[in-house]
Amino acid sequence: MARTGEKLAEPAALDRRCFVDGKFVESDERLDIVDPATGRKIGAAHIADRAIVDKAVSAARNAAHGDWGTLGTRERTRLLRRVADGIEERFEEFLHAEISDTGKPEETARQIDIPRGAANFRVFADLIANQGAEIFQTDTPDGAGALNYAIRRPLGVVAIVCPWNLPLLLMTWKVAPAMACGNAVVVKPSEETPSTATLLAEVMHDAGIPDGAFNVVHGYGAGSAGELLVGHPGVDAVTFTGETRTGAAIQRSVADSVKPVSFELGGKNPAVVFADADLGKAVPALGRAAFANCGQVCLAPERMYVERPVYGAFVAGMKAEAEKLVPGSPYDGKTTIGPLISAAHKKKVLDYFDLAVEEGATVVAGGGVPEFGDDRDGGYFVQPTVWTGLEHTARVNREEIFGPVCSILPFDTEEEAVALANDSPYGLAATVWTENLSRGHRAAAALEVGITWVNCWFLRDLRTPFGGMKLSGLGREGGVHSLGFYSELSNICIKL
Ligand code: NAD
Repeated sequence: MARTGEKLAEPAALDRRCFVDGKFVESDERLDIVDPATGRKIGAAHIADRAIVDKAVSAARNAAHGDWGTLGTRERTRLLRRVADGIEERFEEFLHAEISDTGKPEETARQIDIPRGAANFRVFADLIANQGAEIFQTDTPDGAGALNYAIRRPLGVVAIVCPWNLPLLLMTWKVAPAMACGNAVVVKPSEETPSTATLLAEVMHDAGIPDGAFNVVHGYGAGSAGELLVGHPGVDAVTFTGETRTGAAIQRSVADSVKPVSFELGGKNPAVVFADADLGKAVPALGRAAFANCGQVCLAPERMYVERPVYGAFVAGMKAEAEKLVPGSPYDGKTTIGPLISAAHKKKVLDYFDLAVEEGATVVAGGGVPEFGDDRDGGYFVQPTVWTGLEHTARVNREEIFGPVCSILPFDTEEEAVALANDSPYGLAATVWTENLSRGHRAAAALEVGITWVNCWFLRDLRTPFGGMKLSGLGREGGVHSLGFYSELSNICIKL
């Protein structure tokens, strides 16, 4: 901390280069890195052109068919655990890199983003080290039989295209299982958040990961590094987290090559609160669910259905949850809600604030922009916002906003609640609150989503299947499901 009167040194501008074949690479074209808490430019990332993407894919192919892909499981998992150690050793650097890109409160990144970045490597190293094989004994007419067993082999080169909301956590959620299975990867981080991927490249190098096994290309999506990468003929599979319409564009890019794809896409997640719920637990948990990371969590419930007898108490509770949040700079210990990621995203969320009012919402909390009277006014803050009075069919209740918002609607019966929750083009996640065990099981089984939490939210066990139904995704990752996507099974039949 600077002493009084001492001039604070300007932090060095961030310079995030691409990482190809074990070396950092510069390019002529740059994109700005902007601090979302002030709107100020704080650095730049080097945009990968076609030549850089080509080199990254070709380096990955060499590693996949050479030093990395042919490494035994024991050595491969040892190196991946060293990557986890490396993230932890440089914890503070990762923390500051993530915070400067996203503006999220320090405590959030310290408790969630960075630890999960390291955990992903350990979980998938353990999983691959301990996996068994499927074996079947098959009868044959001569009575001697046959043995069938399946071996797992890597796909080759996996392209990993990432979003900005949980940059390190969601990137490593894909990188770790892909590499654990013996694939080489080319990562395209979001243009908003290039920093932790660049730092991870240093960690990979220091851990002794062979050159070419992990590559990073920065840039935009359509017409830039993202599109060049996913459509590249040297890429064997694409895994993507981001908006549904981007997933559809990627699917079109890869259609002719019939590459395997895994998509984790958008959501419009319901919460269902029954009258027998413990509101003392439900309200704070759903306050966190709606507003954590400034609502920029794919699993956040933006629509909440509440049984009529507790509707009034629940609305009052959510208003209090929204109003107790303190917006501010990520490093201010009092801050409990940071900014949105960008000026464009702030505009999108504020447009939904206007639309909600046009569609007849009562604004119970928020609905505007906080004022600070200092440089934070240049940042991308909006108020956590609670609406009531909207029709279930309103656009605000159907479209993903991806901001700190929730719309609360009453219901009268369990059947009605399930029908309303399911009436959505999306099917990512739901959260159900009830003290009735049977109802909890029944409602969870009836909801058309990839994950339902009962009396909790965001409790994740990385061994469990994760993904979305309907427009929320394609395929499942997590535990053995990740191994399923990132490898090919070949069956071998031996006549005895
Ligand atoms: P986005 O789709 O705008 O961008 C994601 C990535 O795709 C970026 O790296 C971008 O550069 C790249 N991209 C864009 N167009 C491309 C193209 N044509 N070809 C190749 N790459 C392209 O998403 P975002 O705004 O970064 O993230 C927010 C979205 O992500 C929300 O919809 C959210 O729900 C979703 N999300 C889903 C999950 C999940 O697990 N289902 C998790 C986090 C975020």
